[in-house]
Amino acid sequence: MDNCIFCKIVKGEIPSNKVCENEKFLAFHDINPQAPVHVLVIPKEHFKSFNELPAEVMAEMSNFIKDVAKKLSVYENGYRLITNIGNDGGQEVPHIHFHILGGTKLSWGKATADANPKDMF
Ligand code: AMP
Repeated sequence: MDNCIFCKIVKGEIPSNKVCENEKFLAFHDINPQAPVHVLVIPKEHFKSFNELPAEVMAEMSNFIKDVAKKLSVYENGYRLITNIGNDGGQEVPHIHFHILGGTKLSWGKATADANPKDMF
């Protein structure tokens, strides 16, 4: 996708602070971290959201996410894995990404209509 910011990160047209990658997936630090550890995991191929992500890609991505969590040293103590979907889900970047949040005990807010999804981290 030509004007997708995460596709540009995959192509190296926009810089990112990479954690790790393989031929299909990339993990990089969120530019506006909401926790001591806040990393985004994306497939290099463009899919708009979880709704469009084929199940077989999700299966491979699951293993990659677990490897990233181990590399970030949050695997044992725990972490939060979030993907926002569409307008009501608060998705700002329309290229599916999972947020890995951790490095501290995370609070959990209420999913009320006026709540900012980011305040739930
Ligand atoms: P979402 O609201 O779930 O779509 O999350 C989008 C996330 O992408 C936010 O947490 C942003 O801080 C993050 N973000 C946007 N642009 C960049 C970028 N260039 N590098 C790293 N993270 C980014």
